[in-house]
Amino acid sequence: MRLDKYICYSSDLTLSQARTHIANQQVQVAGHLCTNPAQQVHEHNNISLAGQRLTPRPARYIMLHKRLNTLCSHQDGAYPSLFSDLDLEKAELLHLVGRLDADTTGLVLLTDDGRWSYQLTHPQSGCRKVYRVTLRSELATDTAQLFKQGILLQGEAKPTLPAILTPVTAKEVLLTITEGRFHQVKRMFAAVNNKVLALHREQVGNLQLDLAPREWRYLTSAEVMATH
Ligand code: URA
Repeated sequence: MRLDKYICYSSDLTLSQARTHIANQQVQVAGHLCTNPAQQVHEHNNISLAGQRLTPRPARYIMLHKRLNTLCSHQDGAYPSLFSDLDLEKAELLHLVGRLDADTTGLVLLTDDGRWSYQLTHPQSGCRKVYRVTLRSELATDTAQLFKQGILLQGEAKPTLPAILTPVTAKEVLLTITEGRFHQVKRMFAAVNNKVLALHREQVGNLQLDLAPREWRYLTSAEVMATH
């Protein structure tokens, strides 16, 4: 983690106050003065502010039900940032564990534990994501088999990993994928001449969305341990 974020996270200071203290030469890392706010530090480093050793707060692990037309970003843009639904101190220190499109709803995870999010998102993690998909056209009879085999998305050299498609109705399916390619679900259906009209993420790993739109909650430690 960056030094300025670490200080913000381990104290009552805002990020800009932390940077001021660093610039004012009040911060030491492992006994040495450090004036670089971007210096990478680790919780095991001895970091002190005005002579007081800082201890990090416990990491936070959060599930949020992303509502329609919100952005997976810290800044507002064409739509409000989903962080506007997170009435939480120091929310700026949290990052998203995988992003959803503005018009996708459902389960989003946020944390300040970079190792946990890496475990969930790195390409070999195999973490299952389950999406409820509403389609424009009725599901073709061969789509489940094509997705199981893996299909080539436009502009990509490697086919998708095997995905499991479970029909719900003629135009609604549950799709389980283990990757996180850009617009993956929409592009998979585009590749079989269909179109996604609505996309909702119901599950990530063992975590099932159990909140109403805009609600959030902390994960239990059992959930944190089980989700990787
Ligand atoms: N696939 C998509 O196409 N969009 C999302 O938001 C998530 C998965």
